[in-house]
Formats: sequence, structure tokens, C-alpha cells
Amino acid sequence: MQLEATELNMLRPLLRNVAKQSVATAARPVASRGFATSASAPAPTPAFNWEDPLNARNLLTEEEISISETAEAYCQERILPRVLQAYRDENYDRQILEEMGELGLLGATIQGYDCAGVSSVASGLITKAVERVDSGYRSAMSVQSALVMGGIEEFGTQEQKDKFLPKMAKGKLLGAFGLTEPNHGSDPGSMEAIAKPHPTKKGYLSLSGSKTWITNSPIADVLLVWAKYQETGKIRGFLVERSECPPGTLETPAIKDKNGLRASLTGMIHLDECPIPEANMFPDVEGLTGPFTCLNGARYGIAWGVMGALEDCIARSRTYALERKQFKGNPIAKYQLVQKKLADATTDATYGTLAALQVGRLKDQGKATPEMISMIKRQNCDRALSNARTLQEVFGGNAVSDEYGIGRHVANLFVTQTYEGQSDIHSLILGRAITGLQAFV
Ligand SMILES: Cc1cc2nc3c(=O)[nH]c(=O)nc-3n(C[C@H](O)[C@H](O)[C@H](O)COP(=O)(O)OP(=O)(O)OC[C@H]3O[C@@H](n4cnc5c(N)ncnc54)[C@H](O)[C@@H]3O)c2cc1C
Repeated sequence: MQLEATELNMLRPLLRNVAKQSVATAARPVASRGFATSASAPAPTPAFNWEDPLNARNLLTEEEISISETAEAYCQERILPRVLQAYRDENYDRQILEEMGELGLLGATIQGYDCAGVSSVASGLITKAVERVDSGYRSAMSVQSALVMGGIEEFGTQEQKDKFLPKMAKGKLLGAFGLTEPNHGSDPGSMEAIAKPHPTKKGYLSLSGSKTWITNSPIADVLLVWAKYQETGKIRGFLVERSECPPGTLETPAIKDKNGLRASLTGMIHLDECPIPEANMFPDVEGLTGPFTCLNGARYGIAWGVMGALEDCIARSRTYALERKQFKGNPIAKYQLVQKKLADATTDATYGTLAALQVGRLKDQGKATPEMISMIKRQNCDRALSNARTLQEVFGGNAVSDEYGIGRHVANLFVTQTYEGQSDIHSLILGRAITGLQAFV
């Protein structure tokens, strides 16, 4: 499906204008709008809203609400209709990235470089809107925005920022983030990829090694690869430009036949003495600080995103349960066992969203810690997966049909619980912070 240019243009100014206003008014919540009372008329009891039970919207600024609505409209109207076929075909339509770029959804928290410059909460709301459709679309966007653009913004030289960020913001250049290796996943500090001085090309390094399970790698234009710098033995970040790699030095084969995240592309990165200009190395950051800083931003986004996927599971199951009749013509939604499944999932989605919102506010104040992000990434992914699996039961045999959408979310949510630190690894991070004792040795 092609997005009509005119329709995109209707959405674009909203997001970009909103971003500008939000700088001035970001800290002003809209709580003051609610429930004015007078002496004569008692305030009406507010109605319970199952889609936002604890009224998280009340904690958002007007600007954040507008951004969220823009993102939701795009996602529901434009990418939802494409996802079923994309998932069946194991295909990612690259045009989606350009559409997101047009709307200002990419690298949205970055100031300048044609990025929208919105709050962390607004970027979380965007992420949630995208993942309500599919975790694969959110993954492709998160890798682009948080892992690669975020890394360049945080650690890149001015030349690297000027060269890559504006084109990535528009979706004209697609990024991939290469940290995981075939033999080193949860323990990336043991990576084997290495950067040595190039034997013949002055001003170049020679990069060798293999990365696996890399989102976007088969079609990425710029690959942020983490490797050990031979001179110091420390991990450094390298921007590998596909168009500049001589034949045979860079291969990015796709990993096919996945049973989750099929609407995003995943592959390997093989580097065989690939010449990389020294100017493409991040200048200062060394060790795991580089990749872990990028991962913090992406994990924060995942914590929001999976709440979108869970909310979609809740909405689908609720509709199904209200329509499906069993035993004397009763909708199955009338039975308490079904209601409990919806109550549990709705409670977890609500708590998870509020926790992500709180961490987002702290992030914008410079008060968020990596452990907070581990906590919300772990908890929200675990609860989203567990509840989605339970809600799948509401559909009976129809859960097995991909047209009901629930199985796709369940398969995707397993991946979200696994990547960017499997949940048990985040338990270790939290356990270390709570006890002061290191479990990783
Ligand atoms: C679809 C998909 C997309 C991905 N995209 C990217 C990407 O773009 N970039 C990238 O770099 N990576 C990516 N990954 C890789 C992902 O981050 C890793 O799969 C993840 O970090 C886990 O590593 P592993 O698969 O090697 O598992 P392992 O590290 O082998 O872990 C296997 C199991 O052992 C457990 N375990 C390991 N060590 C311990 C311990 N000390 N104590 C207790 N339990 C332990 C883990 O919790 C896990 O349950 C992606 C993965 C998938 C599936």
C-alpha cells in the first residue's frame, strides 16, 4: 500500500510544530482541565475508561497528546493494513521508514539535524503507537532511532553527525546496530570482532568479525559495529557504510524462517578485513559504555512499545469475547474466568505504562538510571508476554489463525523479552544494584 503524499503532508506539520511548542510547555500537564466544580452542582463521578484505567492521559501535556494522536493515526490507518501480509511474507517494506521520516518519528528526541526534538515521553508514545501494530515495525524504528542515531548523537564527531543524522531522520539512510556475535550474546564484553590498522590503506582500519541476529542488517546502509580496537583491546564503535565497502569485505545475509518478528528483517554481518576510514570510528567512547548507553535508550522505548502490543491484545480479546457466544447464547465475556484474564492484562498494561511515563519524565530531567530502565524493560516485557499468552486462550481455536492477530503479538513479544538483555539478565542487573554483589563473574 502506498501512502498518499497529501495525507502524509497533513500529518507532518502537526508533529513538527508540536515539537517546537513542546519546548516551551513540556512541563505543563493538562490536569487542570478536569472536573471543575461549583458550589451548587456536585461533580459528576468520572466514568471508568477501560482503555486508560488510571487516566495516564491526565499526566501528558497537550503537545504529547497531539504527537501520540498523530502517531496513532498514521499507524492504524497506514501500517496496520500492511502488517498481516508482511508478516506472512517475512518482509519489511522500506518505504515505511521514509514515511516515518516524513512525519518526524525517527530520532524524535534529537534536537537539530532535521529531527523533531520531542520529550522522552512523547517518543515513548510514538513507540507505543507503532508497536500496537507490530513489534517488528517498532524494532526497525528503534534500531534506526535509539541505537544508531542515538549512538551517533551521543558519541559521534560533528562530521559524523552532519553526515548521517539528517538523512537518517528522513529515512533515506537505514541503520543497523551490530553488537551480538554468534558466540557472545548476553556477554558482549567477550566479543571477538577486531579493528586493526589497515595493512595497505593509510588512514584506514581493517575490521573483521561476525555479528548475528542484527535487525535491519540485510538492507542497512550504515551499520554501527562494535569491535575491539587492537591497539588498546577496548571496545569501540565503527560506522560501516555499505556503499564504501569493497566487494567481499561486507556480507549481510538474512536470517530467514523466523517464528517471531517476521515483519522486520534480521540478518548477520560478516566483515572480512573491511577497510573503514579512521574518521568513521567514534572518537572517545571506549568499552561497553558505548553500546550500553545506546541500549538504554532503546530499552526505554521497548518498555513503552510492549505496552502498545499488550493493549492491542486486550482490545482484540475484549471484542472477541463480547461477540463470541457459548452456552445458552451468552457472550464468553460474561464468564468470570474470561473477565479475570482481561482484568489482569489491563492492570499490567496500565501499571507498565505509568512506570514508563515516570521513567520518561525522569529521563528528561537527567534523573533516570540504567537500573530503572532495566526494571521497566524487564517487567513490561515479561507482563506483556505472559498476558498475551493468556489472552490467546480467549480466542479458542481461532487463536491459531493469523487473521486474529493475537498469535503474531505472542510470537513477537517472546523476542522483545529476549533481545536487548534477556529478562533474566535484567534481573541480574537489578539484583546487583539491590545487593551490591556482582553476579556476572
Ligand atoms: C529478532 C531478533 C533481533 C535482534 N536484533 C539485534 C540487533 O539489532 N543488534 C544486536 O546486537 N543484537 C540483536 N539481537 C540479539 C539479542 O540481543 C540476543 O539474542 C540477546 O542478547 C541474547 O543473546 P543470545 O541469543 O546469545 O542468548 P544467550 O546469551 O546465549 O542466553 C541464553 C539464555 O541464557 C541465559 N543466560 C545467559 N547468561 C546468564 C547468566 N549469567 N545467568 C543467568 N542466565 C543467563 C539468558 O538469560 C538466556 O535466557 C536480536 C535478536 C533477535 C532474536
